[in-house]
Amino acid sequence: MPFEPPRTLSPSKVAAFGACALAFRFTAVERLPEAATPWTVKGTLVHSALEHLVWDHPPGERSEEAASAEVDRAAGALEADGTFDELGLDRASVAAFVDDARRLVGNARRLEDPDHIDAVGVELLLDATVGGVHLRGILDRLDRSEDGSLVVVDYKTGRAPAPAYERSRLAGVHLYALLCEVVLGERPREVRLLHLREPTVIISHPTEPVLRAHERRAHAVWDAVTRACRTGDFRPRPSGLCGTCQFRSYCPAHGGDPALAKRFLGTSGVGVGAA
Ligand code: SF4
Repeated sequence: MPFEPPRTLSPSKVAAFGACALAFRFTAVERLPEAATPWTVKGTLVHSALEHLVWDHPPGERSEEAASAEVDRAAGALEADGTFDELGLDRASVAAFVDDARRLVGNARRLEDPDHIDAVGVELLLDATVGGVHLRGILDRLDRSEDGSLVVVDYKTGRAPAPAYERSRLAGVHLYALLCEVVLGERPREVRLLHLREPTVIISHPTEPVLRAHERRAHAVWDAVTRACRTGDFRPRPSGLCGTCQFRSYCPAHGGDPALAKRFLGTSGVGVGAA
């Protein structure tokens, strides 16, 4: 077999395979390192601030000041571990970057009252075999609503999709709902995508037919992944994502050679270009 299949699939990797099988090979099969980018670091900062706000502060103490202090704490951790240096940000750019994160965290308050959130868990690791596929992923937040039912919550820091693409964006959270059903023995009543930039919220209800459809889809993706690993046939799928793809210089759709990626990125570190 040219490639060893990954041992597990996360909900985001299920979507990633559909977006571009070759990019999936680089990240999930060859596990090549990816450089920090402004948008991934912004996501990390905002997620950390919101998760600590809900988990470390009791209801009634999740004020704007507390949220802002959590942004500063999360930014301090990124400063200390050299992430801002890795992005090449100077002092003024870091301040603007953190201000934008603070705005996104503030926007969350326009979508939900943090003092009314009853979180069962944040950054919740869910791991189960579903329909023969080993799914494993980290859920942003799981709430207990006032009527006693579970609600899956996912934060998004990028732009909200156009209405025509909302369903595909909900696939990941529906898989988390499926994992909750298997792991906790309880199907969440609702899944929510909080798009913090606009801000707007997309809500869906994971019914039995919806979850079974996502289970079949995960199974089909797993079959396709193992087949591609067996044959070595991971096809590029050019799209708007190519503009931010870190593997573009190794992609045959852009004149590159995928075989060189592991040689240059797997041993020499991120950002080393092909010869
Ligand atoms: S450049 Fe585009 S087609 Fe090529 S691997 Fe990246 S996302 Fe896929």
